Amino acid sequence: MCLTTQKIVELRKTKFIFVTGGVTSSLGKGITASSLGKLLQARGYRVAIQKLDPYININSGMLNPYEHGECYVTDDGHEADLDLGHYERFLNVHTSKSSNVTTGRIYQSVINKERRGDFLGKTVQVVPHITNEIKRCIKQLSAGAEYDFIITEIGGTVGDIESLPYIESVRQMLWEMPDDCLCIHLTYVPYLAASHELKTKPTQHSVKELLQLGVQPNVLILRTEHPLTKDLKRKVALFCNVNAESVIEAIDVPSIYEEPIKMQEEGLDYVILKKFGMPNEPEADLAQWKNFVDKRRNATKSIKIGLVGKYVELPDAYKSIYEALIHASVYHDRILELSLFQSEQISEANVMKKLEGLDGILVAPGFGQRGVEGKIIAAKFARLNNIPFFGIGLGMQCSVIEFANDVLGYLDANSTEMNDNPEHKIFDLMLDQKQNIHTEGTMRLGAYDCKLEKGTVAYAAYGKDLVSERHRHRYEFNNAYKTKFEEAGMVFSGINPESGLVEIIELPNLRWFVGTQFHPEFNSAVLNPHPLFMGFMSAAVKYQGEKETGNSNI
Ligand code: GLN
Repeated sequence: MCLTTQKIVELRKTKFIFVTGGVTSSLGKGITASSLGKLLQARGYRVAIQKLDPYININSGMLNPYEHGECYVTDDGHEADLDLGHYERFLNVHTSKSSNVTTGRIYQSVINKERRGDFLGKTVQVVPHITNEIKRCIKQLSAGAEYDFIITEIGGTVGDIESLPYIESVRQMLWEMPDDCLCIHLTYVPYLAASHELKTKPTQHSVKELLQLGVQPNVLILRTEHPLTKDLKRKVALFCNVNAESVIEAIDVPSIYEEPIKMQEEGLDYVILKKFGMPNEPEADLAQWKNFVDKRRNATKSIKIGLVGKYVELPDAYKSIYEALIHASVYHDRILELSLFQSEQISEANVMKKLEGLDGILVAPGFGQRGVEGKIIAAKFARLNNIPFFGIGLGMQCSVIEFANDVLGYLDANSTEMNDNPEHKIFDLMLDQKQNIHTEGTMRLGAYDCKLEKGTVAYAAYGKDLVSERHRHRYEFNNAYKTKFEEAGMVFSGINPESGLVEIIELPNLRWFVGTQFHPEFNSAVLNPHPLFMGFMSAAVKYQGEKETGNSNI
């Protein structure tokens, strides 16, 4: 259901929607922004989402996954906040470097301009120079791409010192373009169990905080664990200068993917369009989305997948892998039963006890020596027991090193990431990387083409010759060993057509044994699940069935 061309031409002027957060962090601004984006997109509008992060780091590349969760990578090689993953999974669009801006980048750009003399001797200040740069970053997303809506999520919580320049930029844009901008403020309504009461005071204070900074929010979204009464909404509306229909309840839902449906029921997109004076018909068509959510709700049978990684205590560290597995399991009518295994705790002695009974094993990406041994042991266990196996990044590298040890009989085979000078350097830096080892430039980042070999498992999954997938790694398979591996039964089913670098390996004699140097998880969306995750899940479901019927002999 699309808007008529006539209407789209009329509406071409981009509207800017800011999403701020109050009361506490971790309220799910990213999911709110993504849900609104989905609803507007499902009405036929072109939507872009962006996150402004108030920290000083230039990007997420150096951030510890324990603190910030996974580092998401865009096609153009930007190491970004994991919220960009939500945007892509909800909207099925690709984000870019412009979709995630940090304070570090804002200051870097302003300081570079100052050094070039662009400010003609003027004193460089937070207002207007930093705020102008922030506004430029917000508006530049609309340049050329002709979006109807740009949704900008402001990281952090209102009242934080570091987000002040962002809120000031929002204030200026609301003032300069009153018809084209609005602000959604997401807050929390706590429930006091002792008195059985929902409390609105934190919301009122949070809105006051925004008002002190000159921003009157247009819509309030209230996160809550209990339904909000009409009276409560009216009270919040009165104290916060908004009309009651602009107070939206965001009650906890069993899955983030239910949020767009909930927001549609609450009339979020309706209120936004009304405020912009835009047509409200036809309603957002969420049929396909609802189909996914129904499938998820209706699944009764589990599928047991084991994820072996270094950061398993923090599920966000593997956020995109987790979501890609969810997508694939839902389309196979299965409930994902994910067991997380700390790779450091896997040994030859306990691997059987730990990984036995799984329907599929995924060995995660990673950097550095810690936990590598356990990843190698897990890959070997999957290979010897013919359990569907998916190795990603370092997970793939471990499966290849394991093959070198156990099948090719190389006693000292390794990646030079783990050992400077093993006898067999199976993964190594490329020559051009060795020449500038201590710079950011050694990392292969972003989307690269991959040519698939016909007749392979990978080709069967994708169903085409050429794909593009995202990378974030330094070490490459050493092609000097290719023939040796091929002679022993390994197939190199995906190759970078320009450089000849290995992208995908597989062992065709097993149920499903695939490793990718790239990160397919970044390309899995709710309405577009990733082919390799789908292939892995199909194999796991088939293996599960074989075990149930007693036909699972290796
Ligand atoms: N540490 C490995 C490399 O840099 C793998 C990285 C990853 O898992 N993406 O090559």
